Amino acid sequence: MPAAHRDIELRLRFWDRVPVRLGAGVVLIASAALALALWLVNAQEERQFERERVAEAAKVATLIASDLARQMQVGGGAAVWSAVSAEAVRYVGITGTLRILVLNRDGLVKSASESAAQGSRIEVRRNPQCPKCDSDRAEDFPAAGVFALPGGARMLRIVSRIPATPACSGCHESSGSWRGLIAVDFDLTALERGTAQRRWSVLAVGLVTGLLLTALISLLFRELVMRSIAALARTARRLADGDLTARTEVLGRNELGLLARHFNRMANRIDDQVHRIEAAQMESSLLYTLVVESAKSLETADMAAGVFRVILERLRPDHVAFFLDAADGHWICAATVGEPGGAVTRGEGDLETALTSTEEPVAKLLGGMDPDLVADACRTRTLRMLHDGGGLTFALPLVCDAKLVGMLACVVDSATFRVQQDMLEHLGANLALAAANARNYSGAITDPLTRLRNKRYGMLRLDEAVYAAKRYRSGLALAMCDIDFFKRVNDTHGHPAGDAVLKEVARRLAAVLRRADVAVRYGGEEFMVILPQANAEEIVAIGEKMRESIAVASIPAGTAQGPIAVTLSVGIAAFRVESDTAESLLARADAALYRAKEGGRNRVEVDA
Ligand code: GH3
Ligand code: MG
Ligand code: MG
Repeated sequence: MPAAHRDIELRLRFWDRVPVRLGAGVVLIASAALALALWLVNAQEERQFERERVAEAAKVATLIASDLARQMQVGGGAAVWSAVSAEAVRYVGITGTLRILVLNRDGLVKSASESAAQGSRIEVRRNPQCPKCDSDRAEDFPAAGVFALPGGARMLRIVSRIPATPACSGCHESSGSWRGLIAVDFDLTALERGTAQRRWSVLAVGLVTGLLLTALISLLFRELVMRSIAALARTARRLADGDLTARTEVLGRNELGLLARHFNRMANRIDDQVHRIEAAQMESSLLYTLVVESAKSLETADMAAGVFRVILERLRPDHVAFFLDAADGHWICAATVGEPGGAVTRGEGDLETALTSTEEPVAKLLGGMDPDLVADACRTRTLRMLHDGGGLTFALPLVCDAKLVGMLACVVDSATFRVQQDMLEHLGANLALAAANARNYSGAITDPLTRLRNKRYGMLRLDEAVYAAKRYRSGLALAMCDIDFFKRVNDTHGHPAGDAVLKEVARRLAAVLRRADVAVRYGGEEFMVILPQANAEEIVAIGEKMRESIAVASIPAGTAQGPIAVTLSVGIAAFRVESDTAESLLARADAALYRAKEGGRNRVEVDA
């Protein structure tokens, strides 16, 4: 899914936000609660108002009824009704009622506080304006009812019965227990106005309270809930975007704080797992590269340099020293403090002895590493690891058939490279195998005294060089070198001194040659040098360089007589593509050497 679409999907719409919905919910619920409360209060007030008015109306009705009875007894005909009307007007003035009506049983208004109403009729049967007026039950009275006038004003009417007293029987026939009705009307306008005013006040108060409540809840919600959720959301987003260092703030000791803690634990676990996977990937890739590198190097020195280079590139160690046992009683080491240009350092003697004695040059090659850790790894033949602050030093012995064939000692930053013990042990097993193979191979092609290539190997390389020179016409020369009067050295200083001279001559020759040249101990004090890509113009200079490297300084051989002066005779033949073979080239170089000897020795003869 494209990133833009994903963002739109992850963005919240306004109404989908929890605080917005919560605020709207609070306002709705608060409004409903206020409306209900208002309705309850109003209903209660109306009931109270009605109760009070019923009592009041009953009193007024009693008084009017007794007035009426008194007037009736006095007798006065129609004047009775006028007198009662006057009383009604008086009571209206005193009690603040709206109107008082006196009706007979048929609903004819006989007296009224309003003269206009006098003589009118009120329907007593099923008329809501005359509540229960048609009832025969005495206990229904006084009866109250609310009705609206045509103008919209509402009115409360309370109807009481005029009881039939014995005095009535004088003029009226017996007609039940009651003679008529007294209706007392109350105006509800004032009450309703008050209610309306209160409604608005309550609404205003309710609205303000609701808003304040919403603000307060929002504030609390923001502090207690939204901040934590927002922090969690931000952190989750960073994690989702690949920033595995992201952790959320733990805000408060509540459920959300707990959630944040668990979230951080989960993030730690993920981070850890990813690091493990990355470390495992890195390790397996490193292991693979090292195994390939070590396996492709046939010779000990190449293997040491190759493995050293890979470790430098991939592990970026603070220090590394890679030792390998060589076949002919010496060892080599590629180390960060070793020879310049990545060349290996050579040491005499057995590797295990050198590493356990920790004398020079081993101590120097180990740099700041703990020599005891390395010596311990040698003795026990097991991996030794030492964590020190953010650094890890490990000494990995390479063991083949119980013999120590190498040692990888390294200091790495353990934060950037998490070395697993398993992986190192695995690596150790592979490197040991490669080291043993390299040592065997190097031993098979090396002359043990001079450490130059032996004759068998040299002849193979000569065949290859001749083949390449013929095929690619790339130039080739062959030099035969022989130490002058070497027999005398042996005779004068002894055989060991002769050996020392041979070694030094070999070292000097190797030092002036290029990497692609192959120096071979052909036999005794005679050396063959294959010079690929050398052309006829160069070969005199090459021969001179070799000759001069020997003649330039006497060779210390540990004899009482001091350094021994020797010279070298050199014969060089340039390869002739059309006519030469390996044998003919060799024969021509030999002939040139013979001429050099004949010509007085310590000289170079060339057969271009
Ligand atoms: P020329 O100048 O004619 O080459 O004289 P030369 O004495 O060097 O020649 P010659 O072939 O007579 O002597 C070679 C000597 O080298 C004979 C042998 O004792 C000695 N030699 C051969 N191999 C070794 C070796 O491995 N160690 C020692 N010390 N001497 C060796
Ligand atoms: Mg000689
Ligand atoms: Mg010789």
